[in-house]
Amino acid sequence: MDITLTLKCNNYCVFCPRKDFLKAIVCRSQKEIYSDIEKIRRKTDNIALSGGEVTLMSNLPEIISFCKEKGFKEIGIITNGRALKNKRLARDLIQYGVRDFAVSVYSFNNRIHDRITGRSGSGSDTKKGLLNLIQLSRQYPVSIRVNIVLNYWNHQDIHRTLEALYACGVRNFIVAEQVIMDKDSKHLSLNEIKKDLEQIRNIPLRDTRLVLRGFPICLLKGKKVLVPEGFVLKESDPLVILEKHEVDTLIKEKSRKSRYLRKFSRLFTRIKPCESCEYAQICMGIQKAYF
Ligand code: SF4
Repeated sequence: MDITLTLKCNNYCVFCPRKDFLKAIVCRSQKEIYSDIEKIRRKTDNIALSGGEVTLMSNLPEIISFCKEKGFKEIGIITNGRALKNKRLARDLIQYGVRDFAVSVYSFNNRIHDRITGRSGSGSDTKKGLLNLIQLSRQYPVSIRVNIVLNYWNHQDIHRTLEALYACGVRNFIVAEQVIMDKDSKHLSLNEIKKDLEQIRNIPLRDTRLVLRGFPICLLKGKKVLVPEGFVLKESDPLVILEKHEVDTLIKEKSRKSRYLRKFSRLFTRIKPCESCEYAQICMGIQKAYF
């Protein structure tokens, strides 16, 4: 389960939910952070520390140690990886107890990555951070996942990004649908997404887990097998799983939680084919911004 610890960040991504959605769920004080961690512990063994950018928090080591004391089996962080270009920091986080790193890399091409993050030099920092983690994973029992939001700026290059990251040793990817909060912002059409996903599915990534997150199930052709995480689309090379948009986050006050979820679900709509669709129970429909 995720917890949003901060909204501070050293990137300014074009599609960042921090500017709007995350305000409703971010922890507002140190006390709230610790009490939320305890609430999460009562629900699950796993916690993912998220932001904003958690590596900018000076008290991150204490928060990780607290999670460890509480007995979480898996402590993860979701990060843009920039600060991890400092290998000592990356190693320290592992030694404090982080076992799972989800690093957002939007393109292997620094120019494209920097365009998306709005920060020059971010692509180079992120790659250095990721490479440090890959090296450390040979010494320590940590897992690494790369998160990529498929979008207007990176989609033509997405196969090169996946292949280059694979060549660096990444074997776990999430390619997520962009949540379009402003329909006037630049975004892909459903047809473009469909073509991109077909191309992504056919990249030969051996021994790899590739999750396609949030895309409407009907955009992907072929046999789908229902598993707890979603649908398996292809069982080998790579293992492709289609899963729902993730809203697995702790929000303590009921009103804040429902406001957040309501706002999110209002971005989606049903179209004619949804009426007779076998996936209608588990699919949120299609984002209104596409029409
Ligand atoms: S419910 Fe609608 S959007 Fe979802 S998979 Fe079915 S047809 Fe597609």
